[in-house]
Formats: sequence, structure tokens, C-alpha cells
Amino acid sequence: MTGIDDLPVREELRGKSPYGAPQLDVPVRLNTNENPYPLPEPLVERIAERVREAARDLNRYPDRDAVELRTKLAEYLTKTSGYPLGLAQVWAANGSNEVIQQLLQTFGGPGRTAIGFEPSYSMHALIARGTGTGWISGPRGEDFTIDVSAAERAIAEHRPDVVFITTPNNPTGNAVPPETVLALYEAAQAAKPSMVIVDEAYIEFSHGDSLLPLLQGRPHLVISRTMSKAFGAAGLRLGYLAADPAVVDAVQLVRLPYHLSAITQATALAALEHTDTLLGYVEQLKAERDRLVAELRAIGYEVTESDANFVQFGRFANAHEAWRKILDRGVLVRDNGVPGWLRVSAGTPEENDAFLDAVREMKKEQG
Ligand code: PMP
Repeated sequence: MTGIDDLPVREELRGKSPYGAPQLDVPVRLNTNENPYPLPEPLVERIAERVREAARDLNRYPDRDAVELRTKLAEYLTKTSGYPLGLAQVWAANGSNEVIQQLLQTFGGPGRTAIGFEPSYSMHALIARGTGTGWISGPRGEDFTIDVSAAERAIAEHRPDVVFITTPNNPTGNAVPPETVLALYEAAQAAKPSMVIVDEAYIEFSHGDSLLPLLQGRPHLVISRTMSKAFGAAGLRLGYLAADPAVVDAVQLVRLPYHLSAITQATALAALEHTDTLLGYVEQLKAERDRLVAELRAIGYEVTESDANFVQFGRFANAHEAWRKILDRGVLVRDNGVPGWLRVSAGTPEENDAFLDAVREMKKEQG
């Protein structure tokens, strides 16, 4: 049988594993930071209507520039942040993973490097590898915050072409203060200048505000967002970015023609019509997230401060063993490989109760 290693794959891909959160068939799945609420029925109807319309034109390529969708995304960002944005400053792709890939294809690539402060979203490093961009693992403190001086030193030393800042951070859940982002932006400009990508996949769940207003006067700053979490539409695959119009022009150089299908554009537009309802679910999830934090602490676990729709908890002598024990009780959480810690996504109140019962039992067992 032919294996991967028998093929002439690129040297840097040899022996590597693909991204893979286990997709197990378990009663309560709280492992991939999805929104637990299915889309409301009126929205499902509206999607069907919009998709039916789009289907009539499927013999044609879709709007290559996704003008209507980008305009509506810009309106959403303007309305929720108070910072005025228009079509020229917004770009969309199939999930924010593709947005990040396009950014690295544009600003990274062979002979260039990107830095992220780890533990953080593992796909940043994997997309770097896939685009031939060298990866630098930057430091994070014991408490999972970014130490500004240590980060500034790492940027000055490595002079990366791209700097990733994830806020709220995944898997730790904590937000990065705006002053830290500003300091790292300045450090990155002094060192290179490089592009700074702020990954705000979970920003709608934050106690704080989006960093969109920081775009003013900072052409090397990019804010990446997604409809996978707050909009409850992980299956849609729609991510987007806001940045200086020049950045939007630059990613056109690498995007595939017609990358966003007419079906995707129609579905995303329908979802944006229902923003208010969907953001209502976000409020419920934030309350559930806060409840998880409080109850986990009451049970006796350590919890990292969370601004996301998930919570990092510990500490375990053996996190994988704890993960398995929770799974044995019918609840799937995530072992991200952070020694001593696990991550649980906020689910419905019933799912969260099932999770809390499972960890309570586990704690009792361990004494
Ligand atoms: N950024 C972060 C920090 C994430 O956690 C995720 C999803 N887990 C993404 C980006 C990618 O999400 P999507 O491609 O679904 O937009």
C-alpha cells in the first residue's frame, strides 16, 4: 500500500498530522467552541428562499468580489463597534481559516516568518507551514497573558513578517488588553515593518470591545472575524477581515477567482438579516460562560479568566486522563495539549449541567 511518505510531498510536511479535533458521537459535545443553538426557524426559511434565488443563476459564476455581502458585513461591524467601515475595508472568504491563509500567502511565504504567542490557535502555525512561512513560537506567561516586554523582545529579535495576536485567545479564553496590541504593533513596525493580524474569532463573547477602532491610521493592522461562533454558523464557512483598503487590494493577488460560492454568499446574507436574534443567543452564552467559570471555581478547579464562549480549567496532573474520565461520563471536552489544562465550550444550560455533574463526580472520586 502506498503511504504519504512514498509520495514526493514537500519536505516540511513529512511526518506531520492534519488538524483534527475528534468528531466523536457523544451525547454532549463541548469540544470545538461551536454555538450550541441551531439557527432559528425563520432564518432557516430565509436561507432557503435566498438559496433558491441563487440556484437559478448557478450556471453563472458568483459575484467574484462579493460586493453585497462585504457591504452588509461592513454595516454589521460599523453598527456593533461604532467605527465606520465600508466595502473597501472588508474582505470575506470561506471561514477565517481561509482569510488567514490568504493573508499568509500575501504577507508570509518562503523566506518569511510569522510569530504567535502560544498556547494559541494551532491553525496559525499550521497555515504558516502550509504556505511555506517559517513559524516562531512566541512566549506567554504562566497565567497565559502576553508579557509585553518579553513579546517586544521576541519581535525585535526575530523581526517576523507577520505577528498574530488572538483576542480573546483560544484555547486559554483570556482577552489581550488594547494597550498590549498597540505596544506589539509599534514593536512590529520598528522591527520590520510587519503585518499584525488580530484574530477576533470570539470577540462577540467578550466583556470588552472589538479593536476595530485601532485600524484608524494603522495600515499594517488586520482584524480577522468569523460567522462560525457568534452567528452560530460554523457549517456555513464564512470568515472576513477588516483592514486598510490596500490590504483588501493585496489579498486579491492570491485569492482564487470565485472562491465564495453563490450559495455561501446567499446564506451569509440571510444570516446577517437576523443579526439581532443571533446576538441574543450570544448574550445567553455569555451568561452560561460566566456560570461555568463560577461553578468550576466553586467545585475547586482553577479557571483562566474567559472572554470567549469557552473556558480553560485545570489543573490536572494528567489532563488527558481527566479528558478521558469526562468522556466516560458522556461529555466531550477538548485536550489542546496545554499541560495540566482542558477546555470546555459553553453549551446549552442542560449541556453545561451535564458537564458540571461530570466534573463534580470526577473531583469527588479524586478527593
Ligand atoms: N480563529 C480562532 C481563534 C479560532 O478558534 C477558529 C476556530 N476554531 C478560527 C479562527 C477559524 O474559524 P473559522 O474558519 O470557522 O472561521
